[in-house]
Amino acid sequence: MRDFTNDHSALALNTATLGHNLDGAGAGWSPERVIDACAERGYGGIVFWRREIGARAVAIGNRARAAGMQVAGLCRTPYLVGRETPAAVIDEARASIDMAADLGAPVLTIVTGGTEPGTLGLGESVKRLADRLATLAPYAAERGVSLALEPLNPMFGGNRTCLFTVADAHDVCHMVDAPNLGIAVDVYHVWWDRTLAEGLRQARGLILGYHLCDWLENTRHMLLDRGMMGDGVADLRAIRGAVEAAGYAGFCEVEVFSAEDWWKRDPSEVLDVIVERFRRSC
Ligand code: ZN
Repeated sequence: MRDFTNDHSALALNTATLGHNLDGAGAGWSPERVIDACAERGYGGIVFWRREIGARAVAIGNRARAAGMQVAGLCRTPYLVGRETPAAVIDEARASIDMAADLGAPVLTIVTGGTEPGTLGLGESVKRLADRLATLAPYAAERGVSLALEPLNPMFGGNRTCLFTVADAHDVCHMVDAPNLGIAVDVYHVWWDRTLAEGLRQARGLILGYHLCDWLENTRHMLLDRGMMGDGVADLRAIRGAVEAAGYAGFCEVEVFSAEDWWKRDPSEVLDVIVERFRRSC
């Protein structure tokens, strides 16, 4: 397992930690300002959200690399299932793949979306998800982009996801069998799973991303009350150990959605605290 005590070159910022995943949240720094602030502090990578990139993907990607960082990924595709307008899904997803390619982001994260309208449970939704991924994966491969399925905490079933565990995501990887399809592991979504280490062992070689935050003992909002690493009850070292034992050696991406706490603070302070917590708690 890697030792981060004196080395945070594997640290990446997911800009959602500054509120950039939602309109009107956070301090509203430009991508350039965030890049410079991360580079100054020695972050190795950065992960953007589509809404902050607009038509400037090439310029922002080049700016990050010129500052000495890598663009580690892009969040995220539109939901691939669970929507009223399935005809638009593939076109929108292709546009998000194009954006990742223009940005120079090697990985595009997928939150699958929930249960397909007119169906019940998960079976038909997972089947349609696999069909759509089989269409998208070659398109992404031609553009040098890998697709990372992110299983979500089961409380997001219904409207946001049909994959709840690493094992669920692994099953879909098997169904699609595309070389550029893998899994993103997010502490917030998997910390509770006692079968996680086994699921990761089975999925060895398929892990494309690792997302850091913490699970607060008294979580007040299911989406927007994530904790900073070290403030909660997730066993961060054990999870990272299992992720790395599954062959992952890439960036550790800090992704803290926190409407009432971290998004209200000065981003400079947030970025400093992340470095300290990354070295001490992760
Ligand atoms: Zn995540």
